[in-house]
Amino acid sequence: MTDATDKLESLNPATGDVVGVHAVDDAAAVDAAVARAREAAGWWAGLGFDGRKQVLGQWRGVLTRRMAQLADVVHQETGKPHADAQLEIGLAIDHLAWVGSHAEKVLGRRRVSPGLLLANQAASVEYLPLGVVGVIGPWNYPVFTPMGSIAYALGAGNAVVFKPSELTPGVGVWLADSLREVVPDHALLQTVTGFGETGAALCRAAIDKLAFTGSTATAKKVMATCAERLTPVLIEAGGKDALLVDEDADVTAAADAAAWGAFSNAGQTCIGVERVYVHDRVHDRFVDELTRRARSIHAGVDADAKLGPMTMPSQVDVVRRHVDDALARGGRAVVGGEDAIGERFVQPTVLVDVPEDSLAVTQETFGPTLTVTRVRDMDEAVELANAGRYGLGSAVFSDKRGAELARRLRSGMTAVNSVIAFAAVPGLPFGGVGDSGFGRIHGPDGLREFTYAKAVTRQRFKPVLNLTTFDRTPEQDTMFATLLTALHGRATQLPKRPLRMRRDARR
Ligand code: NDP
Repeated sequence: MTDATDKLESLNPATGDVVGVHAVDDAAAVDAAVARAREAAGWWAGLGFDGRKQVLGQWRGVLTRRMAQLADVVHQETGKPHADAQLEIGLAIDHLAWVGSHAEKVLGRRRVSPGLLLANQAASVEYLPLGVVGVIGPWNYPVFTPMGSIAYALGAGNAVVFKPSELTPGVGVWLADSLREVVPDHALLQTVTGFGETGAALCRAAIDKLAFTGSTATAKKVMATCAERLTPVLIEAGGKDALLVDEDADVTAAADAAAWGAFSNAGQTCIGVERVYVHDRVHDRFVDELTRRARSIHAGVDADAKLGPMTMPSQVDVVRRHVDDALARGGRAVVGGEDAIGERFVQPTVLVDVPEDSLAVTQETFGPTLTVTRVRDMDEAVELANAGRYGLGSAVFSDKRGAELARRLRSGMTAVNSVIAFAAVPGLPFGGVGDSGFGRIHGPDGLREFTYAKAVTRQRFKPVLNLTTFDRTPEQDTMFATLLTALHGRATQLPKRPLRMRRDARR
C-alpha cells in the first residue's frame, strides 16, 4: 500500500504486486456517504423484519455463490491461503443467516410485567435501529471481522458506512458492491477507502454509532474523536489469549489446538493463542507434541505452505522485538527463533522459559509465535493468565475442571477442549474486557448493540392509587406507605446465617 496523495494502492504482501487502486476518501466524501446512508436507513427500517430478512437472505446467496471470487480478493490482499480465506467467508455467511432468522425474536416488541404498583399499565419494550452505523475494520480477517458488525447492524435495521483497513480496501469494496446488486436503489452498505484520516472522518461524521475493530492504541484515538459528537462506540481491540493445559487433559489434542490457535493466519488473529500455561506433570509431553507439530508446518508461497506472509510489513519488526527480548531474558526457542523471522515471512516459533514480564508475554505479538510456561497447578495458571491488561479470548484443556477454570478466566470468551470455537457460534456474544475493549458483536447482544431500547407504557385503566397527580391525598400517601411495607418490608430483616460465597466463585 502506498500513499500517492489521492490514491491508495493495495499490494499483495507476498510479492509486493499492486492488486488494486482505490480512492482516498476525504471528509467531504465520507459525509456524503453518511448522508446517503441516512436516506437508506429510513427505507430499511420501514421494511420491517420480514423485508430485511428477505434482502439479507438474497445477499447471503450472492456471497455464497461468489465465495471463491471473494476468497481470491482476500488471498491477494492479505496473502493468506485461499482455503483460509474461504473459511472466514463461510463463517461470516453463517452469521448472516443467524441474523436474518433471529433479529425479530431478539429485537421485536415484547410485553414486560408492570409490577404490582403499576398494575394498571401495559408495559412493553422493543429495540429500534440507531440509524447509520460506521464500521472501521482491520486487515487480518477482512471479511469475518467487519461482518460481525456489518451483518448485525444491518439485521437490526441500520444502514452502514464501512471503512476497511488500508491494507484490504478491495475486500471492503467487493462486499459493498455485492449488496448493491441486491439493493441497487438504496445505499445500505457503502465502503469508503483511505488511510487513518478517512477513518477519523467517519468518526467525526453524523453517524449514530461507531463499531471499531483494531488495535488498542487506535481504539483510544477513535474513542477520543467520537467523543466530540458523543457518538457511542463499540470497541473490539487486541488480545493476548492464554491456553491452559491441566494435568488430566488430552495432551495431544491440546498441542494440536495450541499449534493451530497460535500459527494459523500466520498468528495474525486477535483471538490467537499467544501464551500457554501447562501443568508441571504434562509440560514436557506437551512441549514435545507441540514441537513436532510446529516443525511440520511452514510459511511461504508454495503449494504446501499452510501459512502466508505477514500482511503488514511493520508487524515483522514487532515479532522480532518480542522474540529477541524473550531470548535475551533467558528464554529458549525450541522451534524457530531469530532465524525464523524473514523479510515477509515468519516461521513458527515456540518459546519456553520466558519470564512473565517480557514483551512476548505482556504485549500482543500478532505473529506465529507462542510462549509455553510450566505451572505447578491450575491456580497458578489462572493467576498468570489473568495478570495482563487484555481479556479477549482464552482456552482450557481439562477433562474434569474445564467449566470451572473457564469461569475463572478474565476474558470475554473461553473455549474448553478446543480453540476459537466461540467465534463460530452465531448465538454467542463476541468481545472482550480491559484493553481488549467493550461491547459485543454476534448473538443477541450483538444485535442489541446496534439499537436503542424503547420502553412504552400504556394505561389500561385508571389506577386505584394515582401516584402521579397533585390531587394526591394524605390518605393515599399512607396507603402507599402501607402497601410498600407489605411488599418490601421483610427484606430489611437480617439473614439468620451469614452469606457464603458460591463454591465456584471462590479464589
Ligand atoms: P489498527 O488499529 O492499526 O487499524 C484498525 C482500523 O482503524 C484500520 O481500518 C485503520 O485504517 C483505522 N484507523 C487508523 N487510524 C485511525 C484513526 N485515527 N481514526 C479512525 N480510524 C483509524 O489495527 P490493524 O488494522 O493493524 O488490526 C490489527 C489489530 O486488530 C490487532 O490488535 C488485533 O488484535 C485487532 N483485532 C481485534 C479483533 C477483535 O474482534 N477484538 C479482531 C481482529 C483484529 P488504516 O488501516 O487505513 O490505517
